[in-house]
Amino acid sequence: MNVVVVGAGLAGPLLAQGLSRAGIDVALYEREAANQSSQGYRLHIAPEGDLGLRACLPSTLYDRLLATSGKRGSGWRLLDPHLQVVREMLVTPVDEEETGRHLTVDRLTLRQILLTGIDVHQGASFQRYELLDDGRVRVFFANGVVVDVDLLVAADGTHSRVRTQLLPHAEVVETGQSEIFGKTPLTDTVRELAPAAALDGFCTVVGTDGRFMPLAAQEFLSGGEDYLMWVLGAPTRLFPVDLSTLDKAGLWKVAAELVADWHPSLAALVGLAAPETVHTTTVRTAKTVPHWETVPVTLMGDAIHTMVPQGTSAAVALRDAALLCRRITERTGSLLDAVRAYETEMLEYGFAEVERSLRSIS
Ligand SMILES: Cc1cc2nc3c(=O)[nH]c(=O)nc-3n(C[C@H](O)[C@H](O)[C@H](O)COP(=O)(O)OP(=O)(O)OC[C@H]3O[C@@H](n4cnc5c(N)ncnc54)[C@H](O)[C@@H]3O)c2cc1C
Repeated sequence: MNVVVVGAGLAGPLLAQGLSRAGIDVALYEREAANQSSQGYRLHIAPEGDLGLRACLPSTLYDRLLATSGKRGSGWRLLDPHLQVVREMLVTPVDEEETGRHLTVDRLTLRQILLTGIDVHQGASFQRYELLDDGRVRVFFANGVVVDVDLLVAADGTHSRVRTQLLPHAEVVETGQSEIFGKTPLTDTVRELAPAAALDGFCTVVGTDGRFMPLAAQEFLSGGEDYLMWVLGAPTRLFPVDLSTLDKAGLWKVAAELVADWHPSLAALVGLAAPETVHTTTVRTAKTVPHWETVPVTLMGDAIHTMVPQGTSAAVALRDAALLCRRITERTGSLLDAVRAYETEMLEYGFAEVERSLRSIS
């Protein structure tokens, strides 16, 4: 049996790890060159993501992941624009062996670990597939590569081209929010400027007009270049220009200006960022899709249930990978039955999480 996975973000490499550990022939295809990041820096992984990582990764890689993760801090706090704590949720100690851990990782470090030992076909952009009469699937890439496999798995993110072909009726819609994000080296000056809550877990500064600013330090347990990650989010109409027309320096300037009337430390923290780390994105959400007739093509992560970022979507993507891996490797019936069982379960918890994430902005 052989599997092609499209997309080497988070879910794709984890599935590749799990399947290859089980001796299944799996190939991973990614359109970008190595180490591209336009999806943020510090990544919070909720406990179900930790369970997925634990299930699929060899213990050496999982241990490396823990060793290179960041200090967790005591919890999450909501601050007003004067940096007063309005609400807090402290993480209570639980038996993490069973429930999974909250992890704070650097995205590039995590991806390097996830890709260790996996042969990635880099620069290979998925184009289309054809279902074959023998029950297999033919996959076409833009670089001319064509492969026939038993299963095609899409982990190609929010704009999934595989989803567009498999489920042309599935909708991903804009929420009307935009974000600018970047990272600021965690120097002594930055430690002094940063709200205490950003150095002890995660915090979000929230205004009354829809502006919000998540902030959190990434302090590596095993040493590294610590930084403060920040995001500036707001209804798109509050940004003075079309962000897609700006270069990194322009985005950086707009981000600092957007919080100019808040506590002065916030604009100062943005001002100390390295401009080349600044990116923008719009916030999108998937609409619920009813289960389709299962074929040897399936979807994981943002490719099927992209959602408003609120600290759980990466974990849901990793959970998908672990669940699909388990359904395939422990199956007693056909491969299609295993894929159908995965899809039934994934659609239920995936879209429940989409609904929950929408409530965070309503
Ligand atoms: C600024 C920001 C911060 C975030 N922070 C958090 C957080 O702290 N916690 C959290 O849970 N979530 C967070 N998220 C969301 C999280 O990043 C995603 O949910 C997660 O990355 C989804 O993983 P994935 O594997 O499904 O897709 P992705 O990580 O998006 O990976 C998709 C991959 O597919 C590749 N690809 C796309 N099209 C093709 C193609 N045609 N052919 C080949 N390859 C293709 C892409 O290049 C990419 O590598 C954040 C998102 C943003 C934008």
